[in-house]
Amino acid sequence: MRIPVLAIIIPCRDEEESIEHTLKRLLEVFYELKNNNKISDKSFIFCIDDGSNDNTWDLIKKCNKEFQGSVKGIKFSRNFGNQRAILAGLFESSKYNPDCYISLDADLQQDENKIAEFLEKYENGAKIVFGIRNDRKTDGFFKKNSALAFYKLMNILGVNLKKNHSDYRLVSSEVVDTLRNFPETNMFLRGIFNELGFKKDYVYFDVKERYAGKTKYNFFSLFSLAINGITSFSIVPLRFVTILGFIMSIASFAVGVSAVIDKLWGNSIVPGWTTIVVALGFIGGIQILCVGIIGEYLGQLFQEVKSRPRYIIEETAN
Ligand code: UDP
Ligand code: MG
Repeated sequence: MRIPVLAIIIPCRDEEESIEHTLKRLLEVFYELKNNNKISDKSFIFCIDDGSNDNTWDLIKKCNKEFQGSVKGIKFSRNFGNQRAILAGLFESSKYNPDCYISLDADLQQDENKIAEFLEKYENGAKIVFGIRNDRKTDGFFKKNSALAFYKLMNILGVNLKKNHSDYRLVSSEVVDTLRNFPETNMFLRGIFNELGFKKDYVYFDVKERYAGKTKYNFFSLFSLAINGITSFSIVPLRFVTILGFIMSIASFAVGVSAVIDKLWGNSIVPGWTTIVVALGFIGGIQILCVGIIGEYLGQLFQEVKSRPRYIIEETAN
């Protein structure tokens, strides 16, 4: 096998405090890997500036000049979200013909010393190598538990997700070419890569604290990532709505029949007041929930039907 050209893909949103440090550290890793003939001289780092409001893009351009060829990048016209930034990184850097790609966060939370191990698995024939975090020590209580609940829910819904895989992952050029055939606008990468097939392998790593700056995720962006993951991979919630509707209809019918019988027997109506209010509230709540679930899928469909571009590139640093 020839020595592979590696592309490291880094999505960046407001990372001015860490990006330069991260790039320099990764270039050190590159240097070592090149010396050991693990990666080709043509290997490079590819940054995607995902609509940063700070100096991130200027710093990427500065590094592009300083380390000619080794640091490249694109700048989005606005924020498109981390999933699309990674996707754009894979697609747009493919013009430099890398053999494999590794996506990594800009804050160096994912252990960069494991890159060699990813490459080893690739050399041994794996086409997709998932980075799996050993624990969630660096996550807060809310993030840790909501993430675990999400993986559990996805499993119940029949979506096969590898637990504790963040987007630290190696994919080969064949995999990226295959990914081009998936036209959906909203891609949930962790799910998609699990579905593609190909030989898979795993690398286990420890998560470090963020090098600098703070997390770009809040409750709402995590919630939206989770809903997007569910609605783009499972129709079980819709089925649940149907079944629930069915059960509720039968129950209401039974309640209706008993009410009519009560009336015919001349029983007093007033004592039933509580039951009616409780039942109304309950059914009302379920209805709104179900309409909401259907709405989520409709929203997903709406976005896909428009088939707008997944991202817009404003500037390129070759
Ligand atoms: N990121 C991005 N676009 C966004 C949000 C985040 O490209 O809209 C990048 C961010 O710069 C970082 C990576 O995605 O490189 C992961 O984000 P972060 O470290 O904030 O997430 P956490 O590690 O807290 O899950
Ligand atoms: Mg992080």
